[in-house]
Amino acid sequence: MDKIVLRDFSKEEQKKFFQSKYDYYKKFNMRMVTVAVLAYLSFFITDCSIFGHFAYETLLPRAIVIVPFFVYVILTKKVTDYRVMVFATYLMIHIIIWCTDWATYLLPDRQFAIPGMIIMNIIFVCAGFSAPFLYSMIAHMFLIVDIAVANIFIQYENLEMMYLFNLPCVLAIGAMHYMMQGVYFEHYVAKDSLKQLAVRDQLTGVYNRNILKEIYDASAGRLVFAPDLSVSMLLIDIDFFKKVNDEFGHEDGDKVIVHIANTLRSNVRATDYVIRWGGEEFLIIMPGCPSEQAIRIAGMLREKVEQSDNGICKTTISIGIAMYGGGDYHDTIKNADDAMYMAKNNGRNQVVSFEEDLKNN
Ligand code: GH3
Ligand code: MG
Ligand code: MG
Repeated sequence: MDKIVLRDFSKEEQKKFFQSKYDYYKKFNMRMVTVAVLAYLSFFITDCSIFGHFAYETLLPRAIVIVPFFVYVILTKKVTDYRVMVFATYLMIHIIIWCTDWATYLLPDRQFAIPGMIIMNIIFVCAGFSAPFLYSMIAHMFLIVDIAVANIFIQYENLEMMYLFNLPCVLAIGAMHYMMQGVYFEHYVAKDSLKQLAVRDQLTGVYNRNILKEIYDASAGRLVFAPDLSVSMLLIDIDFFKKVNDEFGHEDGDKVIVHIANTLRSNVRATDYVIRWGGEEFLIIMPGCPSEQAIRIAGMLREKVEQSDNGICKTTISIGIAMYGGGDYHDTIKNADDAMYMAKNNGRNQVVSFEEDLKNN
């Protein structure tokens, strides 16, 4: 199999990847900004040492950082979108840099500007873990702009050296983030394929029961689809399947199951969920599908199975339909099961709707 790279992803998939990267490193990100702010505040001790007395001159540029930091902490708790939070993180870092420039402007001796700025690069190393590579590179490049602007006020003793020391840091850290993004990408792809494996049925490749956990919001007590969306459920059972096993053997029986799974999957929308519910039973969940449409689709599926050649024997299916009305989905499956039993009792190879044929009778 060809190696998957981020460029192969659609815009939507890339967004999902970057969101996952942010979510994964979110806690680390918050802690590292906290440590950076504490380190920044501790530089007040350095200021006192440079002044040779309590540095009340730089108290304001040092202490003021606490205000944006609190805003940042609140944002981290309230906002989940990675684009907003990556922007907020880099803004916070640049505020620390601007306040450092302010403190440097007030200091009597600026010979420590170069080591000070190089230390600033450590914070860019940490912030880049949670950010898309391109964002981190652009944000870090701004450090060079910061130096140029700050120089208007500070007039560094050695501006050229300021660039010559910081530029290699920007490039090296950029290269590191590019590689680290590749490492997280591999982790992301592996995690995704494991997740796929957990929700797929080995024999047929359609979903297994685990997919229900993914589409059920336990805290809301309902399926994840929009509440105003009609969701229909089809419970499908192969007719006289024991006979197929008895006559042709278990292996050919499996082939029939696979053939029917493929027929079902290729005749519903990509947004529908085809699930192997039991041995020779399937459940199809169709979001955005009202009752009349579900009856039409079920009829079409029944015909397709009846008419298609599975290479073993002629096979038919019975289908029970029920509409999901919110809450626990097991109630809907029970209704679909009741409808399916009616289809069996009525002679099999047919469709029965719980709402249309059973409920009021
Ligand atoms: P009905 O029309 O009433 O559904 O009759 P049926 O014979 O199909 O009865 P039922 O649905 O109870 O049959 C289930 C049978 O399916 C029992 C079992 O032998 C077979 N079966 C279940 N899982 C598998 C499987 O994975 N492979 C094969 N080959 N057979 C299976
Ligand atoms: Mg059965
Ligand atoms: Mg059966």
